Amino acid sequence: VEHYLHNIKAKAELNAFLEVFEEGAFAQAAIIDQKLANGTAGKLAGMVIGIKDVLAYKGHSLQASSQILNGFKSLYTATAVRRLLAEDAIIIGRQNCDEFAMGASNENSSFGPVLNADDTSRVPGGSSGGSAVAVQADLCLASIGSDTGGSVRQPASFCGVVGLKPTYSRISRYGLIAYASSFDQIGLITKNVTDAALLLEVIAGKDDYDSTVSQREVPAYSELLATDKKYKIGYIRDCFESEGLDAEVKDSILAVKDMLMEAGHQVEAVDFPYLDYMVPTYYILTTAEASSNLGRYDGVKYGYRSENATDLTSLYKKTRSEGFGPEVQRRIMLGTFVLSADYYDAYYTKAQRVRRLIKEKTDELLRSYDFLILPTAPTTAFKLGENTANPLAMYLADIFTVQASLAGVPAISIPVGRDANGLSIGLQLMTRSFEEPQLLAFSNYIL
Ligand code: GLN
Repeated sequence: VEHYLHNIKAKAELNAFLEVFEEGAFAQAAIIDQKLANGTAGKLAGMVIGIKDVLAYKGHSLQASSQILNGFKSLYTATAVRRLLAEDAIIIGRQNCDEFAMGASNENSSFGPVLNADDTSRVPGGSSGGSAVAVQADLCLASIGSDTGGSVRQPASFCGVVGLKPTYSRISRYGLIAYASSFDQIGLITKNVTDAALLLEVIAGKDDYDSTVSQREVPAYSELLATDKKYKIGYIRDCFESEGLDAEVKDSILAVKDMLMEAGHQVEAVDFPYLDYMVPTYYILTTAEASSNLGRYDGVKYGYRSENATDLTSLYKKTRSEGFGPEVQRRIMLGTFVLSADYYDAYYTKAQRVRRLIKEKTDELLRSYDFLILPTAPTTAFKLGENTANPLAMYLADIFTVQASLAGVPAISIPVGRDANGLSIGLQLMTRSFEEPQLLAFSNYIL
């Protein structure tokens, strides 16, 4: 705890943590010391973990990096966090992120951007930017983030760490602030695959507080990391031919592909005809869900309330105009539009159908191949401010991560190289639903 607290203070300019639970962390550490002495410590004893500011931890502030939740404190603890604590992990603090997890650069936080520790003129990715930088810069051992369309995998790629988004429904969402519920997932950011496996086996599994969580047994992932199997791997040709793909990222991923072929795996190019539809489908559906989920922030129930209101309607309007940042407002408007009576069928219903096509095609490919490999992001970490004036350019940063989110299949980003500027390049692997054991084992093998 002392080690990480020291690093957090020394590297405060990175802006990775919104709040550090110094007292609480020492108190937990003291209890764990005793448990270690009498042999009753849990399996995460002493693991120091940071949590993204979208996860509830009873008695602690929770804001989703937004002003609209200013002053709000959690009334209960998220299931994932509760399970970490039950195994004697130590929660060191809450981490900066894009407001309501909407963003790909952490520049949408009302607490200012997080800086990439490899080059502080660059973004860490988002929306779990603080969580990725915290692991990158050794401010904690691991982070718990959320991934709706890439928010764990893309910052992991930009920061040279491991980012895992499991199968949709593998981890309870109880206590996770909702952005787009049919996509939202808790994910893990770690230094290596073993830590991801260990954390996943602790936090995954059925939960009476989330009716959408899977009832399947949770395998002991950390004991299943050895593999000498020869796999069948597809690489999505269209991704490698896409315009915005950086040449160094492409070469680096193709080099891994060649390495796998030489090692005796069967690697083939596959076609995925829906690449152009991925980002639009994702943004229509997630903004629709967000406009509904964020309706609850009305100035009455949670956090911030405008002082300038004169009646109930103006209370809603002023609270929401003052409390939400520009990107969140943009998405609420877009989502409200695609759900409005006149446009519902043209946009929302259509996008639901396209999502189904994308899911079916992805599942079909994954019946023939054990893994699909592709870059996590089309570029390495970009400069702060580079994409802020152009939301569409920012949305395209998600082109390779939203497929697994639309399809609900598990995906991981692992660091496989660096570009000429020394910036990290992430390889993304997808596999069939609930095949996390082979996803983790094969990632471990590649690393
Ligand atoms: N960049 C994507 C978005 O802004 C993904 C965010 C996320 O996964 N939470 O929606």
